Amino acid sequence: MILTLEARADAQRVRAELAERGVWVSPLIGGASVQLLVEPHSPRLDPSSLLAIAGVASVSAPESPHPLVDGHPASIEVDGIPLSGPALIAGPCSIESAEQIDAIAERTARAGSRWLRGGAFKPRTSPYSFQGYGEAALRWMRAAADRYGQRVVTEVLAEQDVELVARYADVLQVGSRNMQNFALLRRAAAVKKPMLLKRGMAATLSEWLQAGEYCLLYGASAVVFCERGIRSFDPTTRNLLDLGAVAQLAHVHRLPVVVDPSHGAGRRDLIAPLARAAVAAGACGVMVETHDQPGSARSDGPQALPPEPFAALAAELQPSKGAA
Ligand code: PEP
Ligand code: MN
Repeated sequence: MILTLEARADAQRVRAELAERGVWVSPLIGGASVQLLVEPHSPRLDPSSLLAIAGVASVSAPESPHPLVDGHPASIEVDGIPLSGPALIAGPCSIESAEQIDAIAERTARAGSRWLRGGAFKPRTSPYSFQGYGEAALRWMRAAADRYGQRVVTEVLAEQDVELVARYADVLQVGSRNMQNFALLRRAAAVKKPMLLKRGMAATLSEWLQAGEYCLLYGASAVVFCERGIRSFDPTTRNLLDLGAVAQLAHVHRLPVVVDPSHGAGRRDLIAPLARAAVAAGACGVMVETHDQPGSARSDGPQALPPEPFAALAAELQPSKGAA
């Protein structure tokens, strides 16, 4: 946003007033009149409130690159289940068998989770790692979710699998590695279901929002943004969970945002404190990897919560529901 000052305006006083409102500016040099460029780390303000400052002649705001995202509701529900509370999206990294997903769904549902996650198609760093059981896993997951009254959230990895995954899923997850795979976003959006869009591990907030715009433009009924950590220099956590971005999405953009502390930290011991922090920052839900036997998990065992600590976390985050 650019503010143009009146010819006789006291620029220092205008800047002081802006600072008073938390607005950072830098002067643009060379024009006929004094202009102030609003820095991106300023709060989002209504241009008319800036025009009201004495000495401000005009305010020009660029068009939003994501008008559909701007109009998106702050909260959503999927087939009658609100994604709020906070919502607990829980389940294994990968779906390993019908028995495994059933046992996990049973325990997480009893703890108050109405959302079952799990990977049938797994994006793995190594081509030699387990890639998921595909349609069989989707079938097992749908059956378990239906048995315990849960909604299914699962990742679609490739364009050609979209229709297949959509037959089983209530929410189509697009993973971090595919946040800007626009061909996949378009195809997934076209089935008109809600999408859960994980943040790319090096994506700016603006890139993430514009990826969300793709989803809405091409037909998704809703977009839920999922912060899952960004790349950092510190190997003591798997990623750096960016709760500043969560606060911005929740409080500045007023969008549904959930947080995945499992991939965010890659450490089971940090899931509970980071889940609490996520909710405090404005997340409407958390996505937590859970496993009944983390020691034998086919993927991401070290960051999966076993059933008891998951139930304790659920009881803390949703005290009114009462975990069993
Ligand atoms: C997942 O949630 O299963 C997953 C692979 O996460 P991400 O895309 O955030 O790495
Ligand atoms: Mn995982």
